[in-house]
Amino acid sequence: AEEQARIAEEVRAMAAKDQPAIEMIDVHKWYGEFHVLRDINLRVKAGERIVVCGPSGSGKSTLIRCINRLEEHQRGRIIVDGIELSDDLKRIDEIRREVGMVFQHFNLFPHLTILENCTLAPVWVRKMPKRQAEEIAMEYLTRVKIPEQAHKYPGQLSGGQQQRVAIARSLCMSPKIMLFDEPTSALDPEMIKEVLDVMVDLAQSGMTMVCVTHEMGFARQVADRVIFMDAGQVIEQNVPAEFFENPQHERTKLFLSQIL
Ligand code: ADP
Ligand code: MG
Repeated sequence: AEEQARIAEEVRAMAAKDQPAIEMIDVHKWYGEFHVLRDINLRVKAGERIVVCGPSGSGKSTLIRCINRLEEHQRGRIIVDGIELSDDLKRIDEIRREVGMVFQHFNLFPHLTILENCTLAPVWVRKMPKRQAEEIAMEYLTRVKIPEQAHKYPGQLSGGQQQRVAIARSLCMSPKIMLFDEPTSALDPEMIKEVLDVMVDLAQSGMTMVCVTHEMGFARQVADRVIFMDAGQVIEQNVPAEFFENPQHERTKLFLSQIL
């Protein structure tokens, strides 16, 4: 609850300054010769929830990986919470601390318990006392509804439970922004809802979120905006109702007809 109040307070402060949480201006990226992101312009306000969708290979993962500098862009500007992404390593560290990311594959440390997975970064990166880190971790494990799993190892949990741990682990670093890269696409169908429920809860708490997902129910329920990418470009973006009811571009229509 304390944590939620803190997030809400930060969101208000940022919104008051009218500083976007994320700003991408004329961004291009290449993998070698391959032009993977083309002229991306994207502004995400504090507290905004964005869903990114599009065909496989369209550059969705690359786009969000550029936001926390897991990938570098070569042209244009990316500014995250007022920090311009450049080669300055100190600033990259700052960004990594403020931006949490959840991947398709949960990337938990298999030889650490769930609790240890959650306290590792707060203790070693934020220099938080272990006891305090454990208390916070238990709060988040409770919030994602698996406090009783704290002393187990990742291999003893279902995929859905592991993904909820991954979300809790990210939240333990008190991120200002959360990025999700197809967090439910590796899960068995019966586990998708339990993960989406956690994401909906997070969205409703006021967290700034950019989610790559094809879960269109989630998009309708919480997204402020849906962004459609194809071949490295943002083709179309709109509020969910308009995006689904009234897609403008042929490629968007084709994509929606294939997934809905
Ligand atoms: P999406 O997440 O929409 O499926 P990606 O961002 O993963 O798309 O990939 C976009 C394109 O870039 C794909 O054609 C993919 O093969 C290519 N790609 C992704 N990562 C790399 C990389 N590290 N090196 C070279 N090409 C890559
Ligand atoms: Mg991807």
